[in-house]
Amino acid sequence: MGKQWVIAIDGPSGSGKSTCAKLLAKNLDLLYIDTGAMYRALGFWAKEQSVPLDDESKVQSLLNTLNLEYGVSDQVLIQIDGTDLTQKIREHEVSKLASTISQIPIVREFLVDFQRTLATTKVCVMEGRDIGSVVFPNAFCKFFITTAPEERARRRLEELKEKGETDLTLETIIKDIEERDATDRNRSHSPLIQTEDAILVENGSSLDDTLSTLTKLVKEKAIASGINL
Ligand code: C5P
Repeated sequence: MGKQWVIAIDGPSGSGKSTCAKLLAKNLDLLYIDTGAMYRALGFWAKEQSVPLDDESKVQSLLNTLNLEYGVSDQVLIQIDGTDLTQKIREHEVSKLASTISQIPIVREFLVDFQRTLATTKVCVMEGRDIGSVVFPNAFCKFFITTAPEERARRRLEELKEKGETDLTLETIIKDIEERDATDRNRSHSPLIQTEDAILVENGSSLDDTLSTLTKLVKEKAIASGINL
């Protein structure tokens, strides 16, 4: 199999990978795909529809009948059955629903197919937990982004406060992030891992520095793989 025209960005919650992926895509005029948003949307939707996650046949029939749409417009990132979930999925409670539903193999298979189809139109920057390991194992460029845990929690708290969730403390966020990370790393299906060919990038205090490192590496990898960006 030849190289896949995807920049795969994986890493733990709150590592700043979404910000990096989004800006990288913007700077290079590439498609940006946030796979976490899809797990969030499905987790939220299953709860709304009162689908018990331990009942595989009910989860399967939900997957068979729902209509998931990604990148509907600049304002509407994600929609299920015509309902815009773009804002809703950013709520703190939805993180846990996403983490739980993402452990179900049929849900992962459904979303992996969906993600592969989305990436056929244009070179894209896709971020998540299993992009370099499962979704696009032959991506021409793979990054694994990390940041110190305290910094990750601080960023996440800022984001949530901006959205009006003011009752959360740094300790609660640290605990939640650690729990979600442990679940993501230890689940049996597609755990969060850094593949051997992924470049480890520490997203420190300067976003500009991280972005210029990523941009330089992407350009080098594209030339090496004969890909025209
Ligand atoms: O990236 P974000 O924090 O929005 O993802 C929400 C949750 O969805 C993660 O904690 C993880 O459990 C799950 N996820 C996943 N695989 C992906 C993207 C997200 O399991 N590719």
